[in-house]
Amino acid sequence: QEDALYVVSLMRTIPDFPKQGILFRDFLPALADPRGLKVLAEALVKTLPVAASDFDLVAGLEARGFLLGPQLAMSLGKGFLALRKKGKLPPPTLSQEYSLEYGNATIEMEKGSIVPGQKVLIVDDLIATGGSAKAAADLIKRAGGQVAGFSFIMELEGLAGRRELQDYPVTTLVSMP
Ligand code: IMP
Repeated sequence: QEDALYVVSLMRTIPDFPKQGILFRDFLPALADPRGLKVLAEALVKTLPVAASDFDLVAGLEARGFLLGPQLAMSLGKGFLALRKKGKLPPPTLSQEYSLEYGNATIEMEKGSIVPGQKVLIVDDLIATGGSAKAAADLIKRAGGQVAGFSFIMELEGLAGRRELQDYPVTTLVSMP
């Protein structure tokens, strides 16, 4: 509990970034702190949404999921799969489009990086509307994988992100208004 309060005290809230009216939550200062980094890394391991034996791979969403996924995977003896923004990965790729508040976005993975039937835990820093996370799940299923669950550091309340992921086990460390 003391550790959780400590980590939350390191997080920043920035109004009107990246756009007017958006309240941006930033956990990077917590990663820059040795105790904060350790607490976050250990908390992800302790609050897995399913048993570690129930998945084979950890997938992280670009870019902040890349800061969390590899160390989580390594401490559990799993591999790491990068889900990237469109145009960054060499072909052949599989892509998944999804809608944002204004317009669309696309995430991609390298074809063949999931063995059919492999179970995947998806990691990111934050869930807001759940759109990116849902797209990640859809992409993994289309690649032949099974989605074991989701781990997030932060959850924004009132945005129905969890409803978007209601078919899956989800854990978040901190809930923010
Ligand atoms: P969603 O798709 O609406 O759930 O938005 C989540 C995605 O956008 C994640 O990949 C987050 O890293 C990013 N994101 C949205 N809002 C914030 C924020 O306030 N801070 C940091 N990342 C955010």
